[in-house]
Amino acid sequence: MLRRGFFAILGEDQQESFDMAKRVYLFSEGGKEDRDLLGGKGANLCEMTNLGLPVPFGFVITTTTCREFFQAGNRLPNLLEQEYRVALDLVEKKMGGRFGDPENPLLFSVRSGAPVSMPGMMNTILNLGLNDEIAEGLAQKTGNPRFAYDSYRRFIQMFADVVLGVEGERFEHVITDYKNQRGKVYDTEMTAEDWQSVIGIFKTMADFPQDPFVQLKKAVEAVFLSWHTPRAIFYREMNNIPESLGTAVNVQAMVFGNYGDDSGSGVAFTRNPSTGEREFFGEFLFNAAGEDVVSGVRTPESLNSLQQKLPAVYDELYRTQAQLEQHYRDMQDIEFTVQEGKFYMLQTRSGKRTGRASIKIAVDMVNEELIDRGEALLRVSPEHVDAFLHPMVDPDAKKDIVATGLPASPGGATGQVVFSADEAVETGKDGTPVILIRRETTPEDIHGMKVAEGILTELGGMTSHAAVVARGMGVCAITGCGSLTIDYAAGTATTKEGVVITRGDTITLDGASGEIMLGDIPKIAASDSEDFQRLLTWADRYRRLQIRANAETPEDAAKARELGAEGIGLCRTEHMFFEESRVALMRAMILAEDAGERQRYLDQILEFHQADMLKLFEIMDGLPVNIRLLDPPLHEFLPHLGDDIDRLAEQIGKSPTAIRDATEHMSEVNPMLGFRGCRLSVVMPEITEMQVHAIIGAAAEATEKGLSPAPEIMIPLVVNVREVRMIGEIIDKGVHAALQGKSTSVRYKIGTMMETPRACLSSNRIASEVEFMSFGTNDLTQMTYGFSRDDVGKFIPEYLRKKIIETDPFITLDQRAVGRLVEMALTESRARKAGIKYGVCGEHGGDPRSIQFFHDQGLDYVSCSPYRIPIARLAAAQAAVRKGAV
Ligand code: PEP
Ligand code: MG
Repeated sequence: MLRRGFFAILGEDQQESFDMAKRVYLFSEGGKEDRDLLGGKGANLCEMTNLGLPVPFGFVITTTTCREFFQAGNRLPNLLEQEYRVALDLVEKKMGGRFGDPENPLLFSVRSGAPVSMPGMMNTILNLGLNDEIAEGLAQKTGNPRFAYDSYRRFIQMFADVVLGVEGERFEHVITDYKNQRGKVYDTEMTAEDWQSVIGIFKTMADFPQDPFVQLKKAVEAVFLSWHTPRAIFYREMNNIPESLGTAVNVQAMVFGNYGDDSGSGVAFTRNPSTGEREFFGEFLFNAAGEDVVSGVRTPESLNSLQQKLPAVYDELYRTQAQLEQHYRDMQDIEFTVQEGKFYMLQTRSGKRTGRASIKIAVDMVNEELIDRGEALLRVSPEHVDAFLHPMVDPDAKKDIVATGLPASPGGATGQVVFSADEAVETGKDGTPVILIRRETTPEDIHGMKVAEGILTELGGMTSHAAVVARGMGVCAITGCGSLTIDYAAGTATTKEGVVITRGDTITLDGASGEIMLGDIPKIAASDSEDFQRLLTWADRYRRLQIRANAETPEDAAKARELGAEGIGLCRTEHMFFEESRVALMRAMILAEDAGERQRYLDQILEFHQADMLKLFEIMDGLPVNIRLLDPPLHEFLPHLGDDIDRLAEQIGKSPTAIRDATEHMSEVNPMLGFRGCRLSVVMPEITEMQVHAIIGAAAEATEKGLSPAPEIMIPLVVNVREVRMIGEIIDKGVHAALQGKSTSVRYKIGTMMETPRACLSSNRIASEVEFMSFGTNDLTQMTYGFSRDDVGKFIPEYLRKKIIETDPFITLDQRAVGRLVEMALTESRARKAGIKYGVCGEHGGDPRSIQFFHDQGLDYVSCSPYRIPIARLAAAQAAVRKGAV
């Protein structure tokens, strides 16, 4: 923790004139816990200093000072300069040079460092403290004028660029012209005199301050100001980093890797950041400054050459990296410099790594007893799990991004563009991969969606049909790409910038980022790993939430079990009726003109419905299977295209006109708020009775086969307890019909979806009638906001950009309002009746941040699409660990 030592060395009057907040910390005064105040880089420099590592000494100006600076209209606090001058004196003593002294010069690097890593986003100035006189002094003292003037010209370039706002390229032109005139190609051919001439030209291009203290003050201001450069702002927005954090400024004595042949700069990782293998690995450039390694102007060598040429330095480096990894108990990314054969540490931080590496490192570190399992679980980002489930677009591949939509279902997919489901099936027949582009998808597109590698829609948000279905199937999808204009007739999709994607073109979708690219972009294949499975096993031990799947087909249910589902949390029965062979019967039933005709079709539907249910009970033997009664508006089942209508007319012996009239009659102005959900059961109880007959009939069959089915019958879109009572009676009839004449008894539960605000606000009354409640947070979000979930693609991106909302509420639960309804429903229903089981089956059930909330609220389970189950298992464990589970 912070020590206040250096404040004490001030004279008494000086102490008095300081206001209370300490703004400057020597490296010996902070530690790794002080990230918020000193920034990540500053805190780690302090920590390394305290570990006794060879860190060039320096001081940190706090992030609080950055905030003060902005509050005062971009002015440094009055006393700041006095404060850092005191610190500077101490740095001079420790380093044995003097800032601004030509005889024995001490130079500084001035770098930004926010509490959260923002690599390369802000400004840095090196070699600060040089001027004409001091450069000459440095040349004399080192006996290396070329080094002195090379350093000086680098400083002028950086200072002019960062502080004075002169474009860096103008300086590069000067150097290139100068070299061309003299027939030189490489920097190494430039002599001290050459650099002096170049410096002469540079000085005519900018008003460059000679006073080192003026340089320092301006550099500090420039680093603070760089918090607000467009690229830094953009990075913060992308990564949800609060603007209020501010950056610290690290002022550190310079050491030089470009001092000569026994000097150099390097970067290294304590383990391999791509694979996670435990191998020390890095790069080194002899006679080069740190920026030369990073910028790639020269190709670095492996650490082997350092080991051969400077073995003692290598040994120290090796020992240091091992010590740092042990100390931080995490893989480190380090920067170091060697000056005249002496080793210096410049930086250490947790290394960025791929998903695969993050899992391997976490598991290995548990085996090495560096961290415990709970810590290992927290080290892996749930998003990293996707790499084990889907092929991913290679992050290092060159990409030509033509448009961006919502990242609706992860994975990378490449294929030929088609614009209809039929075309998808046709083109895909010979195995050609296809990308299906639609304005939006409807259940009628399901056959095309099934064969597509990827799905792209112009409309719709994260819970639109396309998004929900694609996630369920584990197919890559991008929705809500409002910048595309789709012309079905022409077979084109045109981006805002005018790029035309034509039927038959090859494109690539990145479902994890929402990016659309032309051509075939390389992918990294999905692969399982033992470490991944082990981590998930640990997750299962820590988590309290159960994880169920949203699934209705046997394939999805089997996949869900394979991925660890502990039952089905939502079987959307309508999806079972959209199958090609079944939809005709459904349509005939809907279009029936009298009760007798309807019943005839219902009897036929009952047969396959029961057979489908039996399959689910078999796959989920012993586990709960939650079946939701029919939910969508019935007209969604009816055909809309001429050909389809004609075909149906033939199949069911009705005229196309009659079908068209009926469809028109059933169409609704606002179907999402219309004749759907349990309203269907109220008006057409015979459908519900048939469904319950099928469910309980299948459960009885399963029981007779020696299985243990556990059906849960769920009533959708409830607003009122009387609906539940009335539908409860219909359910009783269905149960009775199924078990009539049988001796088998079946255990089943009845419950409701909680997906209307009214249901949440009257949960105490509903509680008395149900055994479980499952929050349908898709509809609940839609109805709380009044945002149509199928149209949000048009405006949500703008809402996010303009910061009206921080996150898409259809992805991460809006805890403030929707979450409050959930909380209220829980509190009031629990008060009314104990023992109700609570779950979530909206898409939020697979979102890690929402899962934390559901854990905190004490829900019993979350239910999500099969491919999100491993993520949910991990996220649920993380939620438990964060709350102190051991
Ligand atoms: C919901 O509304 O959250 C839900 C799960 O139902 P659906 O998405 O099918 O409307
Ligand atoms: Mg719903």
